[in-house]
Amino acid sequence: MNKHDLHFSFELFPPRTPVGWTNLPKLIGELATVKPAFFSVTYGAGGSEQNGTYDTIIKVIEQTGIEAAPHLTCVGSTRANIAGLLAQYKAAGVRRIVALRGDLPATAMSNAAPGEFRYANELIEFIRETHGEHFTLEVAAYPEMHPQAANPQADFEAYVRKVKAGAHGAVTQYFYNADAYFDFVERSEKAGLTIPVVPGVMPIVNTSQLLRFSAACGADIPRWIKLRLESYGEDKASVQAFGLEVVTRLSETLLRGGAPGIHFYTLNQAEPTLKLWRNLGLPG
Ligand code: FAD
Repeated sequence: MNKHDLHFSFELFPPRTPVGWTNLPKLIGELATVKPAFFSVTYGAGGSEQNGTYDTIIKVIEQTGIEAAPHLTCVGSTRANIAGLLAQYKAAGVRRIVALRGDLPATAMSNAAPGEFRYANELIEFIRETHGEHFTLEVAAYPEMHPQAANPQADFEAYVRKVKAGAHGAVTQYFYNADAYFDFVERSEKAGLTIPVVPGVMPIVNTSQLLRFSAACGADIPRWIKLRLESYGEDKASVQAFGLEVVTRLSETLLRGGAPGIHFYTLNQAEPTLKLWRNLGLPG
């Protein structure tokens, strides 16, 4: 497949500080120079970032004209609430949504309004029922298994339910074992699923942050990578140089093995993603 036919997307999160908002146009502008297929913007289930997602989506659309896809989580939410958000996004010209269950923050658990959706497949069914084919729906996939799943088979069956409910594409949790991705794709093909499964790639910029995120989301950091990163201590330049080597090799392996593109978890930093982009010889 020609590199121009592949699908490369960039994930942002809504800024959490006034400085982050001030810097957002610069960040978006730098990332937009390579013309990704779309930007996606995360959404905090039950958290304070919710309006931030909408505002970031609007900024991307107005500043770049590039497609912008909000993430939408359903846990702890009501049909009326989700219907309102969908109407707002439709009015803003949004055509793609990353549809998720989400995780409620621990502080919201005790006093959250009871949710009307339990799992992401129910959100997908709801969006399909209410909006037909208006939105292209992306769902999450977990090559190394979702951390709360009962077992790998049950987790894969949950994924199949999301696809059958009407997902058009999947984006994976990040991982550093390419074989986990290829195994997931093989299982999907055996199950007769034909939607593209785009691997999510997380640049490595900070060892403690990576280890913290990975423990929470169930991503395995191979022993050799963890030991090398830890050996650099506070030497950020070495961490980032080694991290770039690791994710470049991983991305090359994925693309060579037939991955239909890459979803870059940018961490709201342009340089690590753009360096990886250039290492891969992608257009732009
Ligand atoms: P689901 O597919 O519903 O699965 C959740 C868990 O329930 C899995 O363990 C699954 O095996 C299990 N399950 C599913 N159906 C059933 C059933 N019927 N019975 C029993 N068990 C079942 N989180 C955010 O808060 N905001 C974001 O913006 C965000 N963006 C993300 C983007 C990507 C690409 C990815 C991979 C994850 C993202 N997340 C985000 C994290 C995600 O919300 C969490 O991983 C969440 O715990 C699961 O969401 P899901 O949509 O995969 O859930």
